[in-house]
Amino acid sequence: MVSDKELAELIFPEVKETIADLEARYPLRNLPSGAEVTRFAPSPTGFLHTGSLFTSMVCHKVANDSNGVFYVRLEDTDTKREIEGSGLQLLQQLKLFNIVPNEGYLGDHQVGQYGPYIQSERADIYKVVIKHLLEEGKAYPCFCSQEELDDIRAKQEKAKIIPGYYGPFAKYRYLNNDERKERILKGDPYVIRFKSSGNHIHKIKVSDLVHGNFEIAENDMDIVIFKSDGLPTYHFAHVCDDHFMRTTTVIRGEEWIASLPIHLELFKALGWQAPKYAHLPVIMKIGENGNKRKLSKRLDNEAAVSYFLKDGYPSEALIMYLMTIANSNFEEWIFEHKFEHMEEFKFSFDKMSLEGALFDMGKLNFFSREILSKKTKEEMLEMTLKYSKEYDEKLYNLVSSDPEYFKKIINIEREKENPRKDYEKLGGLYDLISFFYKDLYEEYVKINGLVYNEKFSLEQVKEVLSALKELDISKDEQTWFSQMKSIGESLGFSSDRKAYKANPEAYKGMIGDVAEILRITLTTKKNSPNLYYVMQVLGLEECHRRINQVLSK
Ligand code: GLU
Repeated sequence: MVSDKELAELIFPEVKETIADLEARYPLRNLPSGAEVTRFAPSPTGFLHTGSLFTSMVCHKVANDSNGVFYVRLEDTDTKREIEGSGLQLLQQLKLFNIVPNEGYLGDHQVGQYGPYIQSERADIYKVVIKHLLEEGKAYPCFCSQEELDDIRAKQEKAKIIPGYYGPFAKYRYLNNDERKERILKGDPYVIRFKSSGNHIHKIKVSDLVHGNFEIAENDMDIVIFKSDGLPTYHFAHVCDDHFMRTTTVIRGEEWIASLPIHLELFKALGWQAPKYAHLPVIMKIGENGNKRKLSKRLDNEAAVSYFLKDGYPSEALIMYLMTIANSNFEEWIFEHKFEHMEEFKFSFDKMSLEGALFDMGKLNFFSREILSKKTKEEMLEMTLKYSKEYDEKLYNLVSSDPEYFKKIINIEREKENPRKDYEKLGGLYDLISFFYKDLYEEYVKINGLVYNEKFSLEQVKEVLSALKELDISKDEQTWFSQMKSIGESLGFSSDRKAYKANPEAYKGMIGDVAEILRITLTTKKNSPNLYYVMQVLGLEECHRRINQVLSK
């Protein structure tokens, strides 16, 4: 009878290396104790998902905090789902969030001693390991056709038992090696399956850095480890790669917990120590029916990282926000640290909540305002040019036509102790600042007119504006404001809320109304950056021009 070794040789005659050779080629890493080796292992199947950014952020953080290594491995064995160019794009997007691997697949090249880091380039390595499993009788060629598989499934469904290729249903597990050899020589197509020795009525104890210790049914599926296209499946490739790349902690999404028994059985069959595992919670949102659900690529804009990039959120804001999901103590920490130096925060798996965190746009917006308010005018200019060049041509043309003027605009109440948080993101900035530009102001007024509080007639508006022409902007803000107050008072507006409330008929309105009339005249808006500084930026002449235009109506 054909031995397991002979069968393995028949299947992989070209494979001469052994596992020992691979162990020698990929030696244990020489790292200080406690250093973690983590990896982000995306499949090149599309855009960077917010959940994947979350995972890669944690991988990066854990490696950095421990002076370890963070690497990227491209998991491209599912060639049917591959989207050309998406691997490179994923790496470029990670870089925008300052997630730069120390090693691995970097988009357009690979760096490191443990490569190749693209799975489709590792077929030789997988074959060595699979040949070894065949030699040990722990794997076998399976000739099951699609019809046979369908048939097995139909029977299982009818009998209401667990579907899959296992135990008595794993029919090709029971061929002998002579029969296997005969079919191979005949040219029958086959895949290679792992021969499980588990039984799902048994439970195994597993430990997870996020979920703690728990029990889960043992694997008993004879899973495919090597496909007919010459590439392995995810389960097998991950085990081989994390072993030979010397990963210490596998950090991945919670959806992989269900396959953990398969992975642990593979590690055991190969006599390798499994890495630690941390399965991260999924990011959720409140769905249309009011229930929590996973962020969906199909339904939710915020599922794609590109959405935040297009909208001009500063990348630190999203990372900071995601860190609040990752560690429950982070939010308090970052407040104490005034939204700065988040790299000094010590991440810990113990502080990760088990329930999927809800994506909270409001909180992201809050972080974003904080971060944008702390940028200098130079940084704002640079960010705005970079952003608008890619996503907003109108804004790009506007800002690049006069960068110095843009800096004046954006510097209103910036670069000071408590900067104003006027801007949330760069998307929409055009509409917020266009009134500073004479032509755009004119265009707006022509189309929309200026809309004042309807309790004032045009005559009243004019009366206020004509008096406000006296305003002096050459002194400080305080003086300017006192002047506005006394102008208002002389026209019958109150600067005392209590007095006004007690007797509203006695006044035309409050000083706030006076300021609003001026604000709408100069900015077209009810809300704007600090009006005193807006006037400084526009210059007195332009302010008077805008006022006179209303007066001449
Ligand atoms: N390629 C897998 C994915 O994209 C990676 C899972 C893992 O990190 O092991 O989901």
